[in-house]
Amino acid sequence: MAKRGGRKTTVAVRRHRCFVSLDLPAALRDAAVAGQSFLRTKEHDLRYTAVSNLHLTLKFLGEISPDDRAEVRKRLGLISPQGVSLRLVRAGCFAPRIVWLAVHGADELQRQVDQALEGLFEPERRFMGHITIARTKGIPDALKMELGDFVVPVLDCPVSSFSLQESHLSHLGPRYETVARFALTES
Ligand code: ATP
Ligand code: MG
Repeated sequence: MAKRGGRKTTVAVRRHRCFVSLDLPAALRDAAVAGQSFLRTKEHDLRYTAVSNLHLTLKFLGEISPDDRAEVRKRLGLISPQGVSLRLVRAGCFAPRIVWLAVHGADELQRQVDQALEGLFEPERRFMGHITIARTKGIPDALKMELGDFVVPVLDCPVSSFSLQESHLSHLGPRYETVARFALTES
């Protein structure tokens, strides 16, 4: 609140919708696209994640102030580079909207993100690493069964970085903007 000439004026601070993302190696992105291609052969009304938007969310931060965004950026930069390797597990869904590929290997880094952001955000209670490949309005039983039929490739994929992303939502779909990227491998 700023005071000018004795009158109070509210200064609106622009907020930023942010999340911490694990940047997908090409092989995992390809596998996610293969999952989408598999689903396209079925008769469901799905909205597919744009290929360039495929990601794994380590932590959703919501709408935050510029100051908090700067603080988050600083703290994420203090996380030590470390080997992270991802493996696809299976296709599945969070009814009623989200179709995903489950991913193992991100839990430790997720805990470190939570630790780094302690005091600013609550830690995740039930983290489950996943890549959202499609969204829908309801998941019919047939789709659930078909998801079980998708054979995920057995791959161990090293990850080179994670990032702080800002999400811009519109009727055209989300657009993600990289605020900062953090290397996971020593260069
Ligand atoms: P849209 O909301 O238009 O479908 P989106 O979900 O990709 O697009 P955001 O809502 O900005 O875009 O979300 C960014 C990332 O954070 C996505 O991976 C999303 O699944 C995740 N996310 C969003 N809201 C939450 C939440 N409340 N809890 C956990 N993760 C969330
Ligand atoms: Mg969303």
